[in-house]
Amino acid sequence: MARHFSLPKLVVATHNRGKAGEIRAMLRPFGVEIVSAQDLGLAAPPEIGATFEENATLKALAATRASGLPALADDSGLSVHALGGEPGVRTADWEGPTRDAMVGMRRIQDEFAARRVPDTDTARTATFHCVLALAWPDGHVELVHGTLDGRIIWPPRGLGGHGYDPCFQPIGMNRTTAQMTDEEKNAISHRGRAFRMLVEACFK
Ligand code: IMP
Repeated sequence: MARHFSLPKLVVATHNRGKAGEIRAMLRPFGVEIVSAQDLGLAAPPEIGATFEENATLKALAATRASGLPALADDSGLSVHALGGEPGVRTADWEGPTRDAMVGMRRIQDEFAARRVPDTDTARTATFHCVLALAWPDGHVELVHGTLDGRIIWPPRGLGGHGYDPCFQPIGMNRTTAQMTDEEKNAISHRGRAFRMLVEACFK
């Protein structure tokens, strides 16, 4: 049984304004005041975990320890099955020092070529992951994990979304997540699913 969240204020442990905005919108109906880690000037800890769960937990606990407030953190990424699950927790690293998702998308294509992965629906499958960690000041942590299955396509298509969306086509669809509106993507995405799980588990 998950712990119910009943405190008035929460830190969103992300320096990404887009993610902070999404979380604010999700929690609006529950009357929780949201402050971002950036507003509080909190440093982002190094993401040294081996799993999405470990990284989300270390980000949430670092923010709660530094602020004395409960904290919510997100860790996400793309696991490509023919690449043994890579880039996984290293998805952001594959974007290079300038954090350019096109660099990461090209690297996936280079790895497919090097391993002679055929360009078929079944050979180039991948899963988007999003783990949310909600940490209380006493050290208690609740975790939820949302996924979205799809395949890697090339060349990239669409201008919406962010990151690797232009090369990711969900199973059973003929558009990439970059060709969807925010609402359409949120209804099926790994992050949308994780948010809804967290709301069910801790906020209702
Ligand atoms: P994090 O901020 O350390 O969790 O890194 C997340 C990585 O996964 C970044 O490289 C993002 O571009 C990528 N990513 C996460 N969620 C999505 C998504 O919804 N679409 C595309 N890329 C994503």
